[in-house]
Amino acid sequence: MRIAVFPGSFDPITKGHEDIVRRALPLFDRIIVAVGTNSAKKYYFEEKQRLEFIKATFSDSDKVEIEIFKNLTADFCDEKGAGFILRGLRNSTDFDYESTVAMLNKDIGKGLESVFLITNAEYSYYSSTIVREILRGGKDVSKYLPWPVIEILKK
Ligand code: ADP
Repeated sequence: MRIAVFPGSFDPITKGHEDIVRRALPLFDRIIVAVGTNSAKKYYFEEKQRLEFIKATFSDSDKVEIEIFKNLTADFCDEKGAGFILRGLRNSTDFDYESTVAMLNKDIGKGLESVFLITNAEYSYYSSTIVREILRGGKDVSKYLPWPVIEILKK
């Protein structure tokens, strides 16, 4: 089984994240969206809310699972029997960061391969950070979010 883990903070999930997962579906048998939770980090949306958004986004896909993870991504992959880490690349800043992390994960994960998909041009400037900034400013974020997330936020 080709299992990939897509790790991130997803604070909140954006259309950019959703696009990466959907485009990776033909490559893997299963994709585990792994929501990182670090007690030292302050999030905008609490863990339960971040999970609910992701579940709603992928409610139509039985190949996508959603889980919380706390420690090293490589250990989580090992636990889940996943041989691949899925990540998205928007620009050279992402590349510089991701290449180091991928090399480290290959060391500690004993051959764990990282697979990168280049962002969809339309979403290339989308990030959870800009969504949080816009929310703090009280403006509309619906352009950036998967529609099931917008529905939940409207409630
Ligand atoms: P982290 O906190 O680990 O950076 P994020 O939740 O911000 O996690 O992102 C998880 C993954 O999604 C990363 O690989 C990131 O590059 C990718 N990603 C985020 N936004 C986009 C986007 N607009 N297009 C493509 N990939 C994206």
